Amino acid sequence: MPRVYINTECPLHGSDYCARLNMESCDACTVRRRNSEEMELLKQDLDAIAKLIPEEGISELFQTDTCMLCRGTEKGKRTWYAQTDIGNAEPRRRHIGFLGIKREARTGSILPIQIACCDACRRRYLTLQYIAPITTAICMALGLILMSIRPIREPLMAITPALPAIVFVVFTLCGLMGGRLWRKALCARYGKKTYLNIFQIDALQRMRRLGWFELYEDRNVSRVVFSKRKLRQGLYTGACGHGAAAEPNAAVETTEE
Ligand SMILES: [Zn+2]
Repeated sequence: MPRVYINTECPLHGSDYCARLNMESCDACTVRRRNSEEMELLKQDLDAIAKLIPEEGISELFQTDTCMLCRGTEKGKRTWYAQTDIGNAEPRRRHIGFLGIKREARTGSILPIQIACCDACRRRYLTLQYIAPITTAICMALGLILMSIRPIREPLMAITPALPAIVFVVFTLCGLMGGRLWRKALCARYGKKTYLNIFQIDALQRMRRLGWFELYEDRNVSRVVFSKRKLRQGLYTGACGHGAAAEPNAAVETTEE
C-alpha cells in the first residue's frame, strides 16, 4: 500500500526529509504543528543524522525475504523482524531534540533498527536471553524443595542448624554459575550459525564505522525484540538512502512491502 501524505501545507511535504521520517500519516507525524524555528532545528537534526548513514541507506536490513542474521551462504527465510535501537554520539548538542532524542553525553542520536530474521535465529537469541535466569530459578526451586523435605532437612540440622540454609545458598550459586557456563557454551555453538551481535552484519559494520554503537548489548549478544511486522514508522524505516531523493516526488508516495 502506498503511503499518501495529505498535508500539502507542510514545509517538508514531498521532500526527502519526509521520506526519511517515514511517518505513517501526516496526523501521526512528529513534525506536525511545529513553528518555522523548530522546523529549522528539526532539519538540522535530520541533516546531521543523514551524514551518519551510509550512502545506500539501511533498508537492505529489512527489505529482504532472507534472514540477515544467518551466517554463511545458506540463509533462512524471513519470518520475523529483530528490532532494537542504536546510538551515536553525534550530533553533540545539549537540548532535547524533536525526534524524542535525549541529548546525553554519550548519545546524540538514536535510530530504530529492524533486521530480517528467521525462526532459527530468533530461537537462538531467545534461548541465550533466558537460559541463565531459568537455570538459576530451577536450581533455587530445587534447593528449596529438597530443604523442605523433612527426612533430608532434619539430619542436616542435626549436624549444624544453619546447614539447610547453606545448602540452599550453594544450590543458588550453582544455578548462577551453571547458567553462565551453559550460556557461554551455547554462545560458542550458536555464534557459528547466527550473528549474535548485530554489528557483525555488513550493513551495520558500515554503520559502526560511522560511529554507531549498541545501546542494549548484553555480554556480546545484542538485545533485540522480535516482531512479525515491520516498524510502522520512524527514521529510516522506509526505503530511502541517506541523502536527497533522486526525484522530489519519490518521497510523497513510498511503498510499504
Ligand atoms: Zn537466520
